[in-house]
Amino acid sequence: MSLSTTIKTVCVYCGSRLGNKPYYQEQADELGQRIANAGLSLVYGAGSVGLMGVVARSARENGADVIGIIPSHLDDVEITQDGLSELHVTDDMHQRKKMMFEKSDAFIVLPGGLGTLDETLEMMTWAQLSLHEKPIIIVNTNNYWSPLLELVEHVVSDGFAAPENANLLSVADDPEGAIKLIEQFNTNR
Ligand code: AMP
Repeated sequence: MSLSTTIKTVCVYCGSRLGNKPYYQEQADELGQRIANAGLSLVYGAGSVGLMGVVARSARENGADVIGIIPSHLDDVEITQDGLSELHVTDDMHQRKKMMFEKSDAFIVLPGGLGTLDETLEMMTWAQLSLHEKPIIIVNTNNYWSPLLELVEHVVSDGFAAPENANLLSVADDPEGAIKLIEQFNTNR
């Protein structure tokens, strides 16, 4: 894939829960650190809970700019993180997702739940419609996302998506691999 802009800001989609295995938190913490060390800025959903909070605190503590975007109705549920470089409060979920998209040059997906799936599939379908060419990188922590990758292959193999749509997702095994992919995208552009 060739990109028109250098990736400087990455949006991380991930769970508002921690998951029930320690490696989910460990990888979220590592990703925040690696985003900062690579000189990237982070865009995310502004919450302090779950993996979202872990990535944001780690990125911030290691010196990254962290831009949080939250709809007003989730302020109490996802408990807005203190100390963000920028905080945007939107009227609704649609505005939040649009702003997260507009402010980011690439997306990294850690383990998460239905909200994470919704956000990831939306970016995939917008890419399918040629509305953007921003990379979508799945961090397949301990094969967490393998069922999603298999589902996408199944959709393509049974004729409900074009074969090239099997390539909408780039896959990394871990945060180190995800940041290497970002660096490769920037080198090859
Ligand atoms: P989850 O993966 O369900 O823990 O949610 C992760 C993030 O996705 C949270 O900040 C949710 O607010 C957000 N999210 C985005 N779109 C949706 C949606 N359609 N339904 C639920 N959560 C969503």
